[in-house]
Amino acid sequence: MHKIIIAIDGHSACGKSSTAKVVAKKLGYMYIDSGAMYRATTYYFLQNDIALSNHDQVGEALESIDIQFKIDASGNSQVLLNGTFAEEFIRTMEVNQHVSEVSAVSSVRRAMVSQQRQIGAEKGVVMDGRDIGTVVFPDAELKVFMTASLKVRAERRQKELMEKGIAEELSVISFNLMSRDKADSSRADSPLVQADDAIVVDTTHLTFNDQVDKIVKLAEQIIYDR
Ligand code: C5P
Repeated sequence: MHKIIIAIDGHSACGKSSTAKVVAKKLGYMYIDSGAMYRATTYYFLQNDIALSNHDQVGEALESIDIQFKIDASGNSQVLLNGTFAEEFIRTMEVNQHVSEVSAVSSVRRAMVSQQRQIGAEKGVVMDGRDIGTVVFPDAELKVFMTASLKVRAERRQKELMEKGIAEELSVISFNLMSRDKADSSRADSPLVQADDAIVVDTTHLTFNDQVDKIVKLAEQIIYDR
C-alpha cells in the first residue's frame, strides 16, 4: 500500500506526541518524536557541561551522541541515548528549561534534521515537532498544525507530570510553555511556524479520541484516494 509521511507540528504540550503515537499505531506507521531527540541532546549537554557558545565542544558532543528509537514490549517507540532508554531523564523541568536554547543552535538542528530525514526516507512515518512540515519534510503528504489554549495545555502537562510523581505549580508550567513557544517561534533557524499547506487542529475542546480520529481520517483520505 502507498505510504505517506505525516508531519505534526505545533505548540508545546498541545498533545502532539500522544496523538501522533496513536495515529501511527492505527495506521501501522512508525512514530518518531523529534522533540525527544532535542531533549536527549539537551540532557547530554547538561550532564557533560557543554557550553553552547563553544562550537568545538558542541561539535564534539554531537559526535558522541547516538540517538535511536526502539519499539518497547508494549509496542511503543522509545528514545535511546547512547544505548540507554532515556525517557525518564528527558522529561524533567530542568530539560524543559534548557531544551529551546539547545535546539536553537544550528549545528544541533543540522544533526537532528539529517537523522530525521534518514528515518523518514522509507515513508510510513508519523513525526511530530516544530519544523517537520516546514523544514524536515516540506513535501510531507499530510501536515497538521496542532494547538490548544495555554490554560488547557498547562493543565494537561501538570497532569502528565503528576502521573510521573512530579508535582509542579501550574504557574511554573504555564511560564515554561510560554517561554518555549516564544523561543521556538522567534529563533532564527527553523522557527515554529505553521506551514502554508498545514491543516490546523485546535485541541482545546476536542477529546483525545476526537483528535486522533480527525488525523487518521485525513491520512486515510490521502492514502486511499490516490
Ligand atoms: O515536542 P517537545 O515539547 O518534547 O519538544 C521539546 C523542545 O524541543 C521544543 O520546545 C523545541 O525547543 C525543540 N524542538 C525543536 N524542533 C523539533 C522538535 C522539538 O526545536 N522538531
